[in-house]
Amino acid sequence: MKVFKFGGASVNSTERIKNLGEILRLFPDERIVVIISAMGKTTNALEKVTDAFYNGRAEESLQLFEQVKQQHLTTAKYLLVTEYLVCEAELKNFFTEVEWLLHDKPVRDYDYYYDQIVCAGELFSTSIVSAYLNEAGITNKWLDVRDVFRTDDDFRDASIDWDYTTKQIENSVVPEFRNADIVLTQGFIGATDENESTTLGREGSDYSAAIFANILNAESLTIWKDVESVMNADPKQFPGAVSIPELNYNEVIEMAYYGAQVIHPKTIKPLQNKNIPLYVRCFLDPSLPGTAIHNKPVHNLPPIIVLKEKQVILEMSSKDFSFIGEQHVGHLYHLFEKFHIKPNLTQNGAISFICVLDDRADKIEKIALAASDFLDVQVIKGLSLLTIRHYTNEMLEKITEGKSILLRQQTLDTIQLLLQ
Ligand code: ASP
Ligand code: MG
Repeated sequence: MKVFKFGGASVNSTERIKNLGEILRLFPDERIVVIISAMGKTTNALEKVTDAFYNGRAEESLQLFEQVKQQHLTTAKYLLVTEYLVCEAELKNFFTEVEWLLHDKPVRDYDYYYDQIVCAGELFSTSIVSAYLNEAGITNKWLDVRDVFRTDDDFRDASIDWDYTTKQIENSVVPEFRNADIVLTQGFIGATDENESTTLGREGSDYSAAIFANILNAESLTIWKDVESVMNADPKQFPGAVSIPELNYNEVIEMAYYGAQVIHPKTIKPLQNKNIPLYVRCFLDPSLPGTAIHNKPVHNLPPIIVLKEKQVILEMSSKDFSFIGEQHVGHLYHLFEKFHIKPNLTQNGAISFICVLDDRADKIEKIALAASDFLDVQVIKGLSLLTIRHYTNEMLEKITEGKSILLRQQTLDTIQLLLQ
């Protein structure tokens, strides 16, 4: 069995959805679980619906939701003939689920409503794609993954209940393959034991696909993207970026950790634990080889460059010249945990502690304020954090030419520079 994951860009037009069908035709007689994201920028649009609803702008939230509805109905109309009415009825059921909620007043916290509303994007996209594939003769069974993925109720960042989810996959997903070679379902979403919808964090569909692959002991997971393969840098930032044909899990987890927008960082563990290879391939040109990610050592990698913009540095020092020790640092890490933010780089000195964070204005101010109770805090914004694995001194000089380096941390294979 194989698992395929198609992201939002691969289903954001009728042509792209047809293209997805052509890709599936390249794998006749294979059993495949297909995981799909919301179409294009639907998740962002639904976030706006949630904001308007939660902030008491009910009319606006309904209008914004109306736009999302129309986009999906239009796509379905252009794409489908015989399956249109059935698909339309399904979509309308999902619309009603959301609209009921939008007509109420918010009484619970934001994250709860976020998940109830935002999860609809994946339900819409998969209904349409499934209907299209069936109409095109690519028989598939659509599943509501909320009946399969059980999570806790940490809304917007829900954790999987592996035992229950494993049982559900064995009892309700595997038997579907008796009637169809393709089971098609949503990424990113799940549900609590009280049937409340949950999401696994933005861009979480890769992770959903990895969970399926792990539990099903799949032979491989393929993530279909609009890029040729994994590159050694973002080609928009570094035009000389090159493709990497082969990587190991370790390298990819490091890249994702440092901020490379390749694959959701949580994706690797479920695959590595069962030694399931991950292929990153291009849905625009399936003849390209893409990148294979596995457990074996890979030699002669090019330098891997990750540039994170919009960084801030918090420079904290003790108020009375006492050493910065476990107590201060422990306290700071509690703050990071409380505000759900992870430092991208830290450095401890005698009476100072430095950390670099993503510039999430709402969080940074709160952390700086809370830390100023026990430390002097200085904030510098507008920085970028450059990480290079397998660096050479020569390329370092070239990349940092004319830039001022505020901080530098270096191990044998990785260097991080904070640039102004
Ligand atoms: N649709 C979700 C998002 O845009 C999940 C995903 O695409 O992976 O974040
Ligand atoms: Mg996506």
